[in-house]
Amino acid sequence: MPIPFIDLKAQYRAIQAEIDAAIREVIESTAFIGGRHAQAFEASFARYCGVSRAVGASSGTTALHLAFAALGVGPGDEVITVPNTFIATAEMISITGARPVFVDVEDATLNMDPAKLKAAITPRTKAIVPVHLYGQIADMDPILKIAREIPVVEDAAQAHGAEYRGRRAGQMGRAATYSFYPGKVLGAYGDAGVVVTNDEALAKKMEMLANHGRTGKYEHETPAFNYRLDGMQAAILSVKLKHLDGWLERRRARAQAYTRLLEDAVATPKEMPCARHIYTYYVIRTGHRDRVQAALKERGIDAIIHYPVPLHLQPAYRHLGHKKGDFPVAERQAGEILSLPLYAELEEGQIKEIVEVILSAV
Ligand SMILES: *Cc1c(COP(=O)(O)O)cnc(C)c1O
Repeated sequence: MPIPFIDLKAQYRAIQAEIDAAIREVIESTAFIGGRHAQAFEASFARYCGVSRAVGASSGTTALHLAFAALGVGPGDEVITVPNTFIATAEMISITGARPVFVDVEDATLNMDPAKLKAAITPRTKAIVPVHLYGQIADMDPILKIAREIPVVEDAAQAHGAEYRGRRAGQMGRAATYSFYPGKVLGAYGDAGVVVTNDEALAKKMEMLANHGRTGKYEHETPAFNYRLDGMQAAILSVKLKHLDGWLERRRARAQAYTRLLEDAVATPKEMPCARHIYTYYVIRTGHRDRVQAALKERGIDAIIHYPVPLHLQPAYRHLGHKKGDFPVAERQAGEILSLPLYAELEEGQIKEIVEVILSAV
């Protein structure tokens, strides 16, 4: 039997009655844009993150743009992030007119290396954006210490419910952005995202920017965006949020099973002692990556590379003038990483089958 990378149908079947009722309720109430479903989700997601405010957005990408715009990031500024992330992180820095400045990552976690951060800061640095890659929060204490007054925006698109010394994304930086892309651990049935923060003034500004710069129905403070969260997605997310902690426990159990069975043959993910890793992706590293991926594919098992080309080597960032060797850790890992199928409904037998194929391929 083929094993998909993710099985959203199995998840839907488990919660179908609740989801269908929530969708019907949105249609009956016609609260399609913003409205009470969006407000209810914002309130419960803020509570889930342990912060005072959540501002709904139309995607994780637009959530990043909202945070940068509200912090005043613009032409002439620099914003520091990592090269091994989904392009949206750097792309939204570029869209503001600022320049993305990359720092390399730590080999153990593949998250921003605080030891390399200081050298990247200049008088133009307007924000620092650590990415909580694969579901493990970056080493935030040293990052915040080095950042001092510079605002830190956490890209938490892969870190719903992840913890660092008991804190969730949004409790540490000035703001954190989450994505609810369907394939994320908390996924909508379309595009959706959110920015969370404890900064009330920043939250108000982001709400204004997400809604055409509105301060009244036909009063516009500044030309801005339509980045609103829609009611249908919010209602679906409210249903799913109630199940999130249960799903995360099951993900963690399956990740631990993989690690037990694979750790002698490949490099398995390292969970830091102070972290609660939620394994948005279960990523192994091996020098035989392409062979392993091909062997899995032959058996109908879907394994994916997040991400094959670091951003500083992408055509989109050619103008930054980087070359191979600039970020050696990010470059080396790009040739070794492989994300295995992982979801709450993945069965023990399927894990065993995947492991057997990997063991015989290496
Ligand atoms: C998914 C993702 C995004 C973008 O989120 P969308 O909702 O797809 O726009 C941004 N950053 C990271 C690290 C992501 O994984």
